[in-house]
Amino acid sequence: MKRPLIVQKFGGSSVANPERIKRVAQRVIETKRKGVDIVVVVSALGDTTDELLQLASQISHAPAERELDMLMATGEQVSVALLAMAIHELGEDAVSFTGAQIGILTDGTHTKAKLVDINTQRVVQELAKGRIVIVAGFQGVNLNQDITTLGRGGSDLTAVALANALHADTCEIFTDVEGVYTADPRLVPQARKLDTISYDEMLEMASLGAQVMQARSIFVAKRFEVPIHVRSSFSQREGTMITKSAKAMEDIVVSGVTLQKDEAKVTIRDVPDKPGMAAEIFRELAEKEINVDMIVQNVSREGSTDLSFTVVKSDLPATLRITRSVSHRIGAGEVTTDEGVAKLSIVGIGMRSHSGIAAKMFEAMARERINIEMISTSEIKISCVIRRQMAERAMRVIHQAFELGKKKKK
Ligand code: ASP
Ligand code: MG
Repeated sequence: MKRPLIVQKFGGSSVANPERIKRVAQRVIETKRKGVDIVVVVSALGDTTDELLQLASQISHAPAERELDMLMATGEQVSVALLAMAIHELGEDAVSFTGAQIGILTDGTHTKAKLVDINTQRVVQELAKGRIVIVAGFQGVNLNQDITTLGRGGSDLTAVALANALHADTCEIFTDVEGVYTADPRLVPQARKLDTISYDEMLEMASLGAQVMQARSIFVAKRFEVPIHVRSSFSQREGTMITKSAKAMEDIVVSGVTLQKDEAKVTIRDVPDKPGMAAEIFRELAEKEINVDMIVQNVSREGSTDLSFTVVKSDLPATLRITRSVSHRIGAGEVTTDEGVAKLSIVGIGMRSHSGIAAKMFEAMARERINIEMISTSEIKISCVIRRQMAERAMRVIHQAFELGKKKKK
């Protein structure tokens, strides 16, 4: 019979220093000795990637992206080598690889390359020799043999894609938290670890700033139905399973509350109320790769209307430059910004089949006299823009209103 295969991914904080690397080695070996084949994907040690970027910024304000990839990829090369050594010290056989060495082929988009193909031949060969295979996360190689990286947090993507390519039984994502929570436990003390969550919910939560896994990696996991187990590298406890099936969760309407504090609101006054105006504004923003989040257009009065939208704060300077010039061109009024906002969201696939969820969320905020400035909804998500100084309190009252801290019976 074929031995089970597990892909284990350890994030930067799990391998932040030699002691932790030794602990990871120990843990990998324990699993291996249960009769399992293991592929380990690791991120760079601690904050290495940030430090490398910081170094680059001291040399150049606009470093070539090819060279940035060359630089950033070194972080993971360090951690795979050290982990292999740590495993050797404990008497097991292990071999480390860069992304290029095992044929993680990407397109040519430096710093956010897309995966094209993974050639699993070498990995399979090494596993067959009884070795633990260690792969550098976050990196690949394009057709020109140039090193590429997969976007920040990309080691998750490496792990999920390898798990899929190798038909692994599970992809275990080790982090410094116990799993996926109903809310950030630092902000909501009653937050509870979820036993299971669906890909769709996890995808929303990741896009909404729950920093457990890279959103792109969940997208790939969903597409290929890769079973994922998010768990702590510091304990043996079961974490959260991310799966397609939501059977066990039928009673659970809302799974989590998220908060994004890095939003800014932009308002364009007196936009002429005629066809093509919104297109004009948002086309230019899109061309500059600015992601517009929520959009609200007010009811038109006397032939013009106010238009508000949100962007992430780091995009605000570019957004302002563009909107001011477009506004001038189309004969709209003043452009104002508001950086004192935050976006609060609830996520749950149960919303598909339950009504009254939005009302319950709004009522909870109304009781606390928290004003809602913008609202957007999707099939499984409701988001509100509110004052930032109210945001953490709002998060707690909503968590309470939906009784997310209580374990639901199945
Ligand atoms: N080291 C890379 C980063 O910090 C990739 C990762 O951590 O997954 O973004
Ligand atoms: Mg990292």
